[in-house]
Amino acid sequence: MTRNKLRLAIIGAGPAGIYAADILLKSERHFDVSIDLFDHLPAPYGLVRYGVAPDHPRIKGIITALREVLDRGDIRIFGNVRFGEDLTLDDLKRHYNAVIFATGAVKDADLHLPGIDLAGSYGAADFVSWFDGHPDVPRTWPLDAKEVAVIGNGNVALDVSRILAKHAEDLMVTEVPPNVAEILAASPVTDVHVFGRRGPTSVKFTPLELRELGELRDVDMIVYDEDFDYDDAARAAVAGNKQVFVIDKVLQQWRQREVGQASRRLHLHFYAKPIELVDDGTGRVGAIRWERTEPDGEGGVRGTGEIREQSVQAVYRAVGYFGSPLPGIPFDKKFGVIPNHEGQVLTRDKQTGEARQMYGVYATGWIKRGPVGLIGHTKSDAMETIKHVINDLGNWWNPESPSEESIVELLESRGIRWTDLDGWHRLDQHEQALGAAEGRVRVKVVPRDDMVQISRGEV
Ligand SMILES: Cc1cc2nc3c(=O)[nH]c(=O)nc-3n(C[C@H](O)[C@H](O)[C@H](O)COP(=O)(O)OP(=O)(O)OC[C@H]3O[C@@H](n4cnc5c(N)ncnc54)[C@H](O)[C@@H]3O)c2cc1C
Repeated sequence: MTRNKLRLAIIGAGPAGIYAADILLKSERHFDVSIDLFDHLPAPYGLVRYGVAPDHPRIKGIITALREVLDRGDIRIFGNVRFGEDLTLDDLKRHYNAVIFATGAVKDADLHLPGIDLAGSYGAADFVSWFDGHPDVPRTWPLDAKEVAVIGNGNVALDVSRILAKHAEDLMVTEVPPNVAEILAASPVTDVHVFGRRGPTSVKFTPLELRELGELRDVDMIVYDEDFDYDDAARAAVAGNKQVFVIDKVLQQWRQREVGQASRRLHLHFYAKPIELVDDGTGRVGAIRWERTEPDGEGGVRGTGEIREQSVQAVYRAVGYFGSPLPGIPFDKKFGVIPNHEGQVLTRDKQTGEARQMYGVYATGWIKRGPVGLIGHTKSDAMETIKHVINDLGNWWNPESPSEESIVELLESRGIRWTDLDGWHRLDQHEQALGAAEGRVRVKVVPRDDMVQISRGEV
């Protein structure tokens, strides 16, 4: 079939969606392209805006590169439009030749532990959304615990621990929203305990993020000598892997440090497998119970049967993110992704039960491959997906109404208060002006209605 134009919808304006649009526009192809990028938030950049911590301005700086792509003006943005509510798959089939889902992940993966539903037990993703000013989460957060546990040994666990332990004044140079700063400033926290069931040489932290903890003002890093009795496998990991080598070096330095003067402490407990959150008698978390583990000689760990308890009044589980299903689109409930082959979405044939390609539907980024990996990985993801979009042109949809105006008319007819690139510029400038007044780069606007009104030039 001869095609001379691809009308493409991309759902999700995080890095994966923006990279996919950019790669397609720059690719070698024999047809024109017109791309509409939809996001249910009134601001683009996904987890770079609403996941990466406010005190990581270097990473947030990736927004500059993503912004350059959008500012070229050859991709239309429709913010405040949710796929599944404001737009359906049938709508897309009527107006586009294909769709790429780049909807990422924003929820916490489950952790099945007795007591996990007690008051005072939280998901890291919810806390991250709160401190990063996500418009769809409550504006307040109950930061009333003196002792807190964080379960997990990845960078999100470090982000959560750092934000909990850091003095709020030291966040005031960042874009942290005012409601968040106020609540963090009143936090009574003294001790944050991070639990990982494996040893120091098996963590998923990256060295830079770990080292940063040691630079927190008035926070002692506490590590325990019993965790550094390395076996052969651990010693081999230190000798053979640069990342592990640096992590070990940082931890060994902390072992030598004088502690005791700081008003807050951040404890790293290794070989510590949480087994239960203990009720304080009122339905709230009163302690975390954990089992001491030991190396099993094969690179893993096994329980020792020794049970310990740490008094805490709040627990944050940072055990991973999980994607959300989208109406009409296949979903793998086990892995929280859209089933796909290199970005081509797969569906089950009702008769044979076999997986087959769902023509015109693609996935990229975290919803394609699962919520692991850095922003840069979403670029290679997008390349793979776009290659198939281009090669599949014989199987694209045949939309009955592909004009660029028709989607605008549809949104208008549904009364959807969508925002566009100019609107984003207005909101961006507004936030920067709020920041400049306080000597900060930006102060985020949090309520969705305010974001939309500012974007649409209504205030
Ligand atoms: C706490 C945290 C800290 C991180 N820190 C770093 C870091 O320091 N460095 C680094 O490189 N990486 C970091 N990452 C990883 C990085 O954020 C991800 O690799 C990247 O954001 C994934 O991109 P994505 O576009 O697939 O998903 P996302 O960034 O999640 O973007 C998905 C977009 O889709 C939109 N969307 C979802 N559902 C719908 C719908 N139904 N309709 C319309 N739009 C929808 C969302 O609003 C969002 O804008 C961090 C991640 C987290 C969670």
